[in-house]
Amino acid sequence: MAFDVPPKRLRSLDEDTPAWLEPEDDDIVAEIKSTILSKIVLVAGKDVKHADIHDWYIAAALTLRDRIVYQWLQSDRATQNHGAKRAYYLSLEFLIGRLLTDALTNMSLMKPFRMAIEDLGLDFDELRNVEPDAALGNGGLGRLAACFMESMASLAIPARGYGIRYEHGLFRQIISNGWQEEFPEQWLLSGNPWEFERRDVVFDIQYSGRLDHAEEDDSEGRTLWIPDETIQAIAYDTPIVGWRGHHVNALRLWSARAVDPMRLDTFNSGDHLGAMSEMARAQAISKFLYPSDETPAGRELRLRQEYFFVSASLQDILNRHLHTDGDIRSLPSHAAIQLNDTHPSLAVPELIRLLMDRYHIGWNDALDITTKTISYTNHTLLPEALETWPVELFERMLPRHLDIIYRINAEHLAAAEKHFGADARSQASVSLIDETGGRRVRMGHLAFVGSHRINGVSAMHSELMRETVFADLNSLYPDRITNKTNGITFRRWLHQCNPELTSLLQDACGAAVLDEPERLRMLERLSDDPAFQQRFQTVKRTNKVALAQIIARQFGIVVDPSALFDVQIKRIHEYKRQLLNAIETIALYQAILDDPQGNWTPRVKIFAGKAAASYRQAKLIIKLINDIGNVINNDPRIRDLLKVVFIPNYNVSAAEVIVPASDLSEQISTAGMEASGTGNMKLALNGAITIGTFDGANIEIAEHVGEENIHIFGMRADEVVQRRSMGLDATDIITSSPKLARVIEAIERGAFSPDDASRFIPIAHALRFLDHYLVSADFDDYYRAQRAVDTKWASPEWTHSSILNVARMAWFSSDRTIREYAEDIWGIPVI
Ligand SMILES: *Cc1c(COP(=O)(O)O)cnc(C)c1O
Repeated sequence: MAFDVPPKRLRSLDEDTPAWLEPEDDDIVAEIKSTILSKIVLVAGKDVKHADIHDWYIAAALTLRDRIVYQWLQSDRATQNHGAKRAYYLSLEFLIGRLLTDALTNMSLMKPFRMAIEDLGLDFDELRNVEPDAALGNGGLGRLAACFMESMASLAIPARGYGIRYEHGLFRQIISNGWQEEFPEQWLLSGNPWEFERRDVVFDIQYSGRLDHAEEDDSEGRTLWIPDETIQAIAYDTPIVGWRGHHVNALRLWSARAVDPMRLDTFNSGDHLGAMSEMARAQAISKFLYPSDETPAGRELRLRQEYFFVSASLQDILNRHLHTDGDIRSLPSHAAIQLNDTHPSLAVPELIRLLMDRYHIGWNDALDITTKTISYTNHTLLPEALETWPVELFERMLPRHLDIIYRINAEHLAAAEKHFGADARSQASVSLIDETGGRRVRMGHLAFVGSHRINGVSAMHSELMRETVFADLNSLYPDRITNKTNGITFRRWLHQCNPELTSLLQDACGAAVLDEPERLRMLERLSDDPAFQQRFQTVKRTNKVALAQIIARQFGIVVDPSALFDVQIKRIHEYKRQLLNAIETIALYQAILDDPQGNWTPRVKIFAGKAAASYRQAKLIIKLINDIGNVINNDPRIRDLLKVVFIPNYNVSAAEVIVPASDLSEQISTAGMEASGTGNMKLALNGAITIGTFDGANIEIAEHVGEENIHIFGMRADEVVQRRSMGLDATDIITSSPKLARVIEAIERGAFSPDDASRFIPIAHALRFLDHYLVSADFDDYYRAQRAVDTKWASPEWTHSSILNVARMAWFSSDRTIREYAEDIWGIPVI
């Protein structure tokens, strides 16, 4: 937990200030100082001598915000004047992290602010660490949305993000005696200086009630919906500044409130709690982020959340469009709506509903406008993660939308019958309603049918979409599926989090490398230059020393910065296979004990990640990692050859410290299961070498960095399917792998859980008999690949490869990804 607020970073102003920060200007520094001081007095309402570090942070953020606001209004006016088409990014998650450093770098104000703050006698790093880490997302999907917001602003694409302003973001993870415990997160507790509450932007969101079919003879099918519950959505805007401060977009998050916050009649009658129940029911909608990752939270409240933010966002988009254009029918040429996964799929029936019932557009036109405006990004093929909702729940909560879904489905099934013939299998497979075991609405199918483009997030994932879940839909609507491989923003994931490396890259590739990442290629000719290699290694070492200090201070584990830092940081999930890494750790431990004087590569195994609170097996894996660490870290025979560290409460701020300090990047998901990954990109960009499966964007990373500069192992996606079809029993594999057999026996014996020998029996059982994720099946090849990593680490090849990784990662910038969305999906020109 304390990791949120790491102690002093090693950067200081006098040494090594990256050259790309603009030269100091005494006037600017003086002006910033005086504004900060006046904010302390006028905003905090305090004498400066009573201000605490928190007041100073708020004052600094507001001082910066003032400057952003002018740019923001300017950007808006420009878009308005040009009648430009806008992109709207709908996402139930935005994993933002801290904004101060982000905004300072992009506004080119880092240096003067740092000077102003230090002139005021404060520690800049302490101040910026006061900012809470905004975690309105679970993992990769939410972080992608945040990277996209930054890239859209950097490319000056007129865009707006829409989501929910959760009062409590992703839970805070505490590791207690090796177990994960969840605590509520309170990012808004001390106020949020970045946001603007828009009291004038409020929409009614309605639920339940009944349909009045009196108008049914209306050939257009307009139906009167008489809802029986209304709540309000109120907008909060956070400005997102693009690189160099040229363009600013808004992230608009909705907060829920009751129309009638307190029933005075009830209150006066003495029922004080009852009087507030309506308020509580309304506010519950924006109270919590669902902390589930890859599995649907099958809860009514979740569907209420989805409709809440979709309806508010669409009403807002239509209002704005009518205000600027005046013709509702021209929507597709002025607005592109991107759905981040199926969570906003209700946008399809909701847009049709608004067009028909509010703006009196006929069915055919409403459907046509909708599909031309909307597009959908698929993020997972895992069957358990494909969202579906019971028809019965729709009937109760969103009767008009179910009506519309049925009508879409009727036309869609008619088209399918023309295409496939009256074939029951293909009809059932493309239907928006899943009829097997209780009727359910398939949100992925709904989004597919209502969109003109459906994209996957890596080449392999998009291909698997065509071949598996959407095979029949793809045959019915060919050319809709396209690929947009994910990316990351280099501003946050290189320039800000790794200023030392950035400085070196500027020396080597020119200052323009900040604007043109393709210039990183210039490193190729330096990859064997001893002087450059030396500087490159020094930067990595500096970052590792900083991480080692945090690990020592906060977790009391001493790690040697010259050891190989082997890092797996991501959500804990069986398909991501932290278990494979954990059992390789055990095998290595056993091998070292067998030959303590052997020529071993010293390693520090670093793990971080949260498990969904209800995911028992994932939580048991966290406990196993911690228990393994307990045994190994306290075994004097191992000395410094192997250490295991589990860093609690993984979030964006933690990633920003761990990524620059990593040597080896673990991307070891079961092939075919990781849609893309973005952690793999952050790590490779910062010079970590990947050990990974042929999965997601790992494949494209291998193509870019070259097969010699990445360690690929394990079964391919087709081999995984084939192996599974033969059953999940791994006895054959264990019999032929003495190493694996020994590891499993140690786990079963309680070697890592002497206080409870049976604790990890469920894990051992899965390894033996339920090897769905192919942990046992891939073990030997993984162990082999790890030993190849050892060999490489000991040779000059390591630094060479590491430099080539940085040199060849430019393509993974989210600027490239967003340019592709803009050009191929949104029809928005990028300058
Ligand atoms: C990048 C990132 C992720 C995604 O990591 P993957 O390895 O792609 O799963 C998750 N959480 C945080 C905090 C991140 O920064």
